[in-house]
Amino acid sequence: MDIKVPDLGGAKGVRVLELLAAAGDAIKKDASILVVEGDKATMDIPAPADGVLEAWSIKVGDTVDEGQVIARIRAASAAPASAAQVPTSALATPAVPAPAAAASVTAPTSAPVAANSFAGSADFSCDVLVIGAGPGGYTAAFRAADLGQNVVLIERYPTLGGVCLNVGCIPSKALLHAARVIDEAASFDSLGISFSKLKVDLDKLRAHKNGVVSKLTGGLAGMSRARKVTTVTGVAEFVDAYHVKVKTGEGEKVVRFKNAIIAVGSQPVKLPGLPWDDKRLMDSTDALELNEIPKRLLVVGGGIIGLEMACVYDALGSKVTVVELSDQLMPGADLDLIKPLQNRIAKHYEGIYLSTKVSTIVAEKNGLRASFEGPAGTPEPQLYDRVLVSVGRTPNGKKIAAEKAGVVVSERGFISVDKQQRTNVAHIFAIGDVVGQPMLAHKATHEAKVAAEVAAGHKSEFVARVIPSVAYTDPEIAWVGVTETQAKKDGIAYEKGVFPYAASGRAIGVNRTEGLSKLLFDPQTHRVIGGGIVGPNAGDLISEVALAIEMGCDAQDISLTIHPHPTLSESVAMAAEVFEGTITDLYIPKRK
Ligand code: FAD
Repeated sequence: MDIKVPDLGGAKGVRVLELLAAAGDAIKKDASILVVEGDKATMDIPAPADGVLEAWSIKVGDTVDEGQVIARIRAASAAPASAAQVPTSALATPAVPAPAAAASVTAPTSAPVAANSFAGSADFSCDVLVIGAGPGGYTAAFRAADLGQNVVLIERYPTLGGVCLNVGCIPSKALLHAARVIDEAASFDSLGISFSKLKVDLDKLRAHKNGVVSKLTGGLAGMSRARKVTTVTGVAEFVDAYHVKVKTGEGEKVVRFKNAIIAVGSQPVKLPGLPWDDKRLMDSTDALELNEIPKRLLVVGGGIIGLEMACVYDALGSKVTVVELSDQLMPGADLDLIKPLQNRIAKHYEGIYLSTKVSTIVAEKNGLRASFEGPAGTPEPQLYDRVLVSVGRTPNGKKIAAEKAGVVVSERGFISVDKQQRTNVAHIFAIGDVVGQPMLAHKATHEAKVAAEVAAGHKSEFVARVIPSVAYTDPEIAWVGVTETQAKKDGIAYEKGVFPYAASGRAIGVNRTEGLSKLLFDPQTHRVIGGGIVGPNAGDLISEVALAIEMGCDAQDISLTIHPHPTLSESVAMAAEVFEGTITDLYIPKRK
């Protein structure tokens, strides 16, 4: 059977960029066998039938036109085909593998021609290449493998799991659990139960935290082997739109791919002008190493990560000061959710300074001297044993030579994607922190599944209505959907129901009455549009609100769902009852 150049949507004289199969290779129907390049985009040409490639009649660099015979195959099936079947407008729309995009998806319309073109041979060849093995990358690799794709996963570090498992979510939560137990034990004093003075064996605690991490990362390595995902340890960079080179311990390797998923994540922002070569100045990764418990710790940045680490070091015995540039802790979260945390830490911490900037940090023999700029009450320059700088994370998009593949990266290092996670180059996807806020592991994993499914030819889209945020501080704070702050700023109409934990039997029983559960409703439809919780296990409780928003629940759907008693989960239903005016666990005088 002759293979002919298919309908090129009017393009003439397209150049042969790459031959993906050699004479004698078995080829599968619809699998790409060569790549051509037109004025606007590159395009794969798939095999019209299963068979064995007998010979090419063209070579790399030739120009070819529609209808021209380019190869001959010995077909395995009797069904002949006269030309490869590709979408007629393929050169102006997404390149390979032309999945049937869901109707509402706007795929990039004109992928720029890759700036580079690689003519050498590859050490690995795959259907789906994933760069970065964080929660985004490993999920994408595993999902693609489960869908029958041949997958190569490249990670620069020897352990899989990325920031989340190694230096983020998991180690921080292991330490926060220890902090919570310490604080809870101390709080029992007033209930007549006292423990002996706190004694911390830092080596043991660190070993426990490292054990949690290695259990999970080891599990990933096992699952990766079981799925036959090829993992390559090294730093990847694009060479062109179909190849990356990887700097490995055994020299440089080249991987050829049909689809690629960029999942290179982010790293802590390192404020310039600070003495970063001094070990006493830490980012979140350093702080999680738990090298010592400083007597005085300054935390620069009152966002979620800074406050979680402050919580850990406070429980372990440090005198903690938090400095935040904006006028509230955890900017973006509603103030009524922040208040219980702020009241609690105000009693524990040495200082909390809002609307305050750290102007300099100077390394001295006995510590790091920080000076501040801010309103009245801002402290004079102070000496701290350690300083944690936690002022945000910056994406790694600029470190992979994405321009050589034609992928557009913003000035700040973010990569834009559509609802199918495609970049402007349609067979190259991006997911996780590198595509933008919120930089959260659960967002990365959901995007990962979409990208892997689309790469495997499925009609998937990222259609989540909401992504919950959680601070695992003490008390925990969680919110999802529309916040009151956002509603006021954007003029979104809402009404709310708030259930205070002072009226919750369970909260009183566990001696944590400072919290609340709040639901925001659309005043017309009574549908839930947002919610926030502060109190023990708020991070677990918020999932019900997320589900309610996804399912389009209204207040009755929640209040008439029987919640177990006595639990904190009841407080979500009771917030709905407050909104409806059916609450009996509180007395709210009727408005006249
Ligand atoms: P990452 O996890 O950053 O993984 C990217 C991977 O790509 C890394 O392993 C990196 O080594 C690799 N890589 C980068 N460039 C290359 C290259 N050129 N070649 C090969 N490999 C490369 N999120 C939550 O949802 N909940 C939490 O509780 C939470 N807690 C956090 C606590 C801390 C202290 C921190 C720092 C973060 C926390 N996060 C949390 C955020 C979460 O860790 C990230 O959102 C998540 O890890 C992003 O996943 P990702 O796959 O996009 O990227």
